[in-house]
Amino acid sequence: MKLFVGCDLGGTNLRAALVDVDNGRVIYQKATATLARQGPQAVMQRMAALIKEVIQESDSSAGQVFGVGIGAPGLLDLEKGETLFLTNFAGNWPHVPLRDTIQRLTSIPTAILNDVRAITFGEWRFGAGQGVETMVVLALGTGVGGGLVVNGQLHLGLSGSAGELGHIVLDPNGPRCGCGNQGCLEVYASGPAIAAMGMKMVAQGFATRIAELCEGDYNRITAALIAQAAQEGDAVAREIFERAGQALGRAAATLCVTLSPQRIVLTGGVARAGVLLLEPMQQAMRQLARVIPVEQVQIELGKLGDQAGVIGAACFAAQKISGGAR
Ligand SMILES: [Zn+2]
Repeated sequence: MKLFVGCDLGGTNLRAALVDVDNGRVIYQKATATLARQGPQAVMQRMAALIKEVIQESDSSAGQVFGVGIGAPGLLDLEKGETLFLTNFAGNWPHVPLRDTIQRLTSIPTAILNDVRAITFGEWRFGAGQGVETMVVLALGTGVGGGLVVNGQLHLGLSGSAGELGHIVLDPNGPRCGCGNQGCLEVYASGPAIAAMGMKMVAQGFATRIAELCEGDYNRITAALIAQAAQEGDAVAREIFERAGQALGRAAATLCVTLSPQRIVLTGGVARAGVLLLEPMQQAMRQLARVIPVEQVQIELGKLGDQAGVIGAACFAAQKISGGAR
């Protein structure tokens, strides 16, 4: 067994898992509240404590833990091991030495990377991306994140920033995005974007199962509820997913002519809608990417669920810390 700890620094929860990076198996895992409002120092103390607990409580006569990998939601400086801007975090964490602080507090070598790049690495090594050389991951949740594997390597780009696929601009005159631009993929295909479409349709008085399922409470309208309505045959709900799927297809067409990937993996809560998104996505891809064999690009759903991030972070640490050896 080759043991590494994979961590996920989430806006709501911190998670840590002891992972055997030879087979991607999670041996033991634990989570605790992030409490981001308490600031970086308190959160990093809590994360270091969680890492130590996971190692101690895992009953691991298995052996030594070689390193820690942390997935963090935002822009990072991989060289310095610092956070630059964390999405949905109190205070945003400018220039916080995350890597070195965790390394100091745990006395274990540590590596950091963006959280969706960690998911990408995990799915590639042990999930839906196994066996391919070039793939794209689109993570559909509160936002839309992404990651790229190119020629058998996680593609990091400048300071690990490659793969911000949610901010591919589809319509420069479209709705405002959190990044400051307009018409990014994220404003069409994220969970909140899909939910907002459902709310709008109900508010406009369309006859839709969404109105019945939410029982008059708009706060209950989520992408999952709209997916349920669509699966029950509701035309309005189906159209909402068609539009989101078409947006994904437009972005995917751009990715196809750029990278010509063997596989595109959809992950995150919204991806559970499955075929509701996949069909319109594939249709738009075929229409828009005409110069590559787009019918050969496989589209699959992620296989590791919410463990992809911690498995990927552990594997990334294994690659970084033991000098390139997998
Ligand atoms: Zn954007």
